[in-house]
Amino acid sequence: MLNIVLFGPPGAGKGTQSEHIIEKYNLTHLSTGDLFRKHLGEGTELGKLAQGYMDEGNLVPDEVVIGMVKDKIASTPDSNGFIFDGFPRTVPQAIALDAVLKEFGTSVSGMLALDVPDDELRNRLMERGKTSGRADDQNLDKINNRINVYKEETMPVANYFEEQGKFSKIHGVGSIDSIFTEISVVIDSY
Ligand code: AMP
Repeated sequence: MLNIVLFGPPGAGKGTQSEHIIEKYNLTHLSTGDLFRKHLGEGTELGKLAQGYMDEGNLVPDEVVIGMVKDKIASTPDSNGFIFDGFPRTVPQAIALDAVLKEFGTSVSGMLALDVPDDELRNRLMERGKTSGRADDQNLDKINNRINVYKEETMPVANYFEEQGKFSKIHGVGSIDSIFTEISVVIDSY
């Protein structure tokens, strides 16, 4: 199985690149943000629990996220592998991911980290907010909070995978195709 962690700050292009990766490598997309938005739209208890955190750009508690990811992996037994988008966002989530994949007899193949400067992220998110309908994309304070949360709580996850020799940095500015070409080179080396 090919299990890829697509890493990077909000607005780095994880969703866009995921679509290309899934198509080329026939993987299952597991975006925790998309799963939470689905729960929110359906008005489930999980959605109600996540909403307050998401509205402010804060992280949903680890145990909630980990439980949701486990369910998704368990419900997709025939997958060729997963692309984890927006997960893990904390070191405990990364440790839990390793443990869950081990239970299923597999492991993380590698982490791809999209590197994009903060100003570019802010511009992209404000632009996306015009059409995405996402409240967390339409307010500069919330966007700045998400970038700060990424730096403080999520960046250590990169070290976690780097220590395992599973980290690759991708230059995340340029055309979608050129970034995807760089990503493909790394995936083909796994
Ligand atoms: P995203 O679509 O990945 O930008 O996620 C949108 C929001 O969902 C985040 O700002 C968090 O509030 C929540 N969220 C998504 N993934 C996670 C995660 N792995 N851990 C905690 N919160 C998350």
